[in-house]
Amino acid sequence: MRLLTLLLVAFLFVPPSNALDKDRQGDTTGDHHGPRNVILFVPDGFGPAQGTMARDYKRDYLGEGSALVIDGIEVGSIRTHSTDNRVTDSASSATAYATGVKTYNGAIGVDTERRPIGTVLQAAKRRGMATGVVTTTRITHATPASFVAHVPQRSMENEIAEHLLWTRPDVVIGGGTRFFVPDSEGGSRTDGRNLIEEARNLGYTVALDRSDFNAGSSMPFFALLADDHLAFEVDRHLTDEPSLADMTRKALELLSQHEDGFFVMIEAGRIDHAAHGNDIAGMLHDVLAFDEAMRVALEFVEEDGNTLLISVADHETGGMTLGRNIDGRSHYGWYPEVVARVKASHGPIVAALTAEGRDPVEVIDEFTTIDDLSDSEIEALRATINDGRGANGVLGEIIARRAVVGWTTGGHTAVDVRLHAAGVGSERLVGNHDNSFIGQIIAEMLNLDLEAVTKDIRSELAAQALAE
Ligand SMILES: [Mg+2]
Ligand SMILES: [Zn+2]
Repeated sequence: MRLLTLLLVAFLFVPPSNALDKDRQGDTTGDHHGPRNVILFVPDGFGPAQGTMARDYKRDYLGEGSALVIDGIEVGSIRTHSTDNRVTDSASSATAYATGVKTYNGAIGVDTERRPIGTVLQAAKRRGMATGVVTTTRITHATPASFVAHVPQRSMENEIAEHLLWTRPDVVIGGGTRFFVPDSEGGSRTDGRNLIEEARNLGYTVALDRSDFNAGSSMPFFALLADDHLAFEVDRHLTDEPSLADMTRKALELLSQHEDGFFVMIEAGRIDHAAHGNDIAGMLHDVLAFDEAMRVALEFVEEDGNTLLISVADHETGGMTLGRNIDGRSHYGWYPEVVARVKASHGPIVAALTAEGRDPVEVIDEFTTIDDLSDSEIEALRATINDGRGANGVLGEIIARRAVVGWTTGGHTAVDVRLHAAGVGSERLVGNHDNSFIGQIIAEMLNLDLEAVTKDIRSELAAQALAE
């Protein structure tokens, strides 16, 4: 009994892991025990139900085992509320991931006083690491922007493009060419600047199509692969764009050439967009593309042995449920086979519905094999087509009620999102945390000095503003 008491006392006096880690704070050389590289995935809008949907579909239709790649590395969950709303937006949540500081909805790399705050990417760069941002959206969109820019509102995409070049990551892959090109050349810039030329002058190899993307073999590398967002995965065969797995492979191939480690943020950015449109097939295939990109990253982590991989959504989108009421009565079950037969995202289907001379009944059958539309559904389709609003909502509900999938909003929800991690230090992520924890733990693991970088960027940005 006495021995047991002694053991218990000894156990209780083992310092908690935080205290042990104090020893390595400030240690930027030699004896650093953290990972050399950090890969952060942000599947935008990816909630728990979206994950279950993709797993059920994969098991029934892809015949590749019964689990998602991410299932093997689930370690916890994340609370996502912002400083001004229980329901966050992507800017506020990504800023928390990038800086460890919670802020207001719409904020890009700034605090609640609208002051710039240094990001883990900027701090990693100042520590001599290679850095990258990769996304399926415009590279100036809220999630990637929060790692490289400091503006009070996410809509300031022209300014974000300038900040991106100022932060100067070694690898940039995404869409949104128009924010880099002057309006005289078909872009969105009213200041006459051509930031693609400026990127070339900074030494970047610029890739504007698939073959240049494939050929990219050294850093710094800047790939803008679409004027706006990249295509949804389900429609990608209509383009020559790379998949998120291709983009991940390219980024890791380039960044790992650098000897002093790297930080990269890779966003599966369009899960959110499809969910906003209550577009099940668009969403499902982007979730599966994200999971395939995670396979690429996980293989890298296993081979490299010196990398921490984290994946965390910024919030859930769509308030999606698997199972719902149909005509006021609860229904047990949901039906992946309905989603499996949908051949496109809402975009091409709505385009066909609104094309001259097309019969909505035929179009729905062609794209979804749904051939039992009710009179009220046909009427609703015709009404929305005619009033110019497109048929997104009606189309979403036609598919969702047959799949017995519920959409409760066209926006975001406050539900916790799943946290995945693998590799060096991943055990430190176990549990349920606030979103600001992600930025803080990355900084700690990589020995980054976020306060110093915050000071630096504030004076650099102030000097720039004075110069203008
Ligand atoms: Mg995003
Ligand atoms: Zn969203």
